[in-house]
Amino acid sequence: DQVSALRAVGVEAGSLNSSTTPEEADRIFGALEDGRLRLLYLSPERLASSNARFLDDLKVDLLAIDEAHCVSQWGHDFRPEYEQLGDVRRRLGDVQTIALTATADAATRDDIAGRLFDAPPHTVVHGFDRPNLRLAMQPKNSPRRQIADFVARYPGESGIVYCNSRKQTEQLAQDLSAKGLTALSYHAGMMTEAREDAQDRFLKEDGVIVCATVAFGMGIDKPDVRYVAHAGLPKSIEAYYQEIGRAGRDGAPATAWMIYGLQDVIKLRQMMQSSQGSEQHKRLEQHRLNAMLGLCEITSCRRQSLLQYFGEDYPQPCGNCDSCLDPAKTWDATEACRMALSAVARTGERFGVNHLIDVLRGKETDKMWQFEHHLLPTFGVGTALDNNQWRSVFRQLVGRSYLSVDLEGYGALKLQEQCRALLRGEVSIALREDQKQKVVKRQTKTPLPEEVDVGLWEALRECRREQAEEQGVPPYVIFHDSTLIEMCTLLPQTQDEFANLTGVGERKLLKYGDAFLAAIRRAQDEAAT
Ligand code: ZN
Repeated sequence: DQVSALRAVGVEAGSLNSSTTPEEADRIFGALEDGRLRLLYLSPERLASSNARFLDDLKVDLLAIDEAHCVSQWGHDFRPEYEQLGDVRRRLGDVQTIALTATADAATRDDIAGRLFDAPPHTVVHGFDRPNLRLAMQPKNSPRRQIADFVARYPGESGIVYCNSRKQTEQLAQDLSAKGLTALSYHAGMMTEAREDAQDRFLKEDGVIVCATVAFGMGIDKPDVRYVAHAGLPKSIEAYYQEIGRAGRDGAPATAWMIYGLQDVIKLRQMMQSSQGSEQHKRLEQHRLNAMLGLCEITSCRRQSLLQYFGEDYPQPCGNCDSCLDPAKTWDATEACRMALSAVARTGERFGVNHLIDVLRGKETDKMWQFEHHLLPTFGVGTALDNNQWRSVFRQLVGRSYLSVDLEGYGALKLQEQCRALLRGEVSIALREDQKQKVVKRQTKTPLPEEVDVGLWEALRECRREQAEEQGVPPYVIFHDSTLIEMCTLLPQTQDEFANLTGVGERKLLKYGDAFLAAIRRAQDEAAT
């Protein structure tokens, strides 16, 4: 893109990367030898490799390193090839060098300087604030619907939806396309041609939505992206800031919107734990993720907190984030938090959110009997809150580092040091009240009982919709609402349990059992939010 933009204004430029054809490479080397080429774009891999020796014979006036945060081990996106750029600079004869990044905290900036330069360079830190970006974050409860509702507010506009998995990019693109929108998926597993095609259409057409992994966006400079949505938690504030920076480059109002949940945290932590980095690197990544989660859970101005993270003061609340525009209601959750923490303690810090909620709400499950948790004093003390409210409590306790997620223990929650004062009753705590979900428009008149988890209900209706579409029949032919409600309250886990539901005969068990059981499991996993 940049090469063609330069050529369009008459500057001779070229690019050498993994997709450069031999003919194009020849042309570039020719232009280099003749001294015609003014700007050469190189990937760091190419530059660091031995066949970049051709540079030794050239008179290079300036070396510019873009995305320089990749140089730093502290950076959120370290790439080993960038480490060698300091050597490249020396090889070019201490050429004038400029390193640029849109996202680096103070530690990362120092590290970049140390790795690239022999003496401290002149450092320029530009303001981080992007006042035209409206910031908003909310807990995830039924992601597909939340995203569809959000996107629907921007008809005909270009937007990016960042997903945490390849599969999710495809599913979302499908969902949105089914609603008549132009939505494309983009991830590193796609064929180059399909990827280029998606990027091309996003750049050239109006109203294209790209559902992408973070592979999408580097070097994309489209001015009129009206929103960047995150379907899950980014792994750091740096990554988040870089990704939302792709919205509203024209300076007109744009939105950075996110949904997040505890399950995102668990997945990201697991990924980080199993990565190849050093222990120190892993700790730092965890620390970054905590800061990101903290930004999600705060009840004060998000912009102030975001800028503070990058070391910038912002004197008063911004008036352009969800905390400022629609202040979160808080509630005194001291008692609830103490119950939650003591449930964690009394079950030996070995269980995940779902079981802990069952303990608090006094649910007699097999697991309860197996571990004799029904004998605990905490058993059944928390019936005043429903499942969703308890999930919100646990999520915020993790977000505020009262609890940590044990990764070897498959998401078991563990107490952190700062719990003590809370457990001893020395301090009180206010938590954010999760926004009540918009009332789901239902086609039937079946009332939805209080204890039904709305996220699961939606997931089951979605599953029914899919089955109905596949069979070419109306949804109620698959199962009546009353059967779905039974699924929500009884939470069958096996074929046998499923067969006991009202309205499930042998044929329906065979035909739909697996799909609905899988949907229940998925929703339960997801609902650990
Ligand atoms: Zn604000």
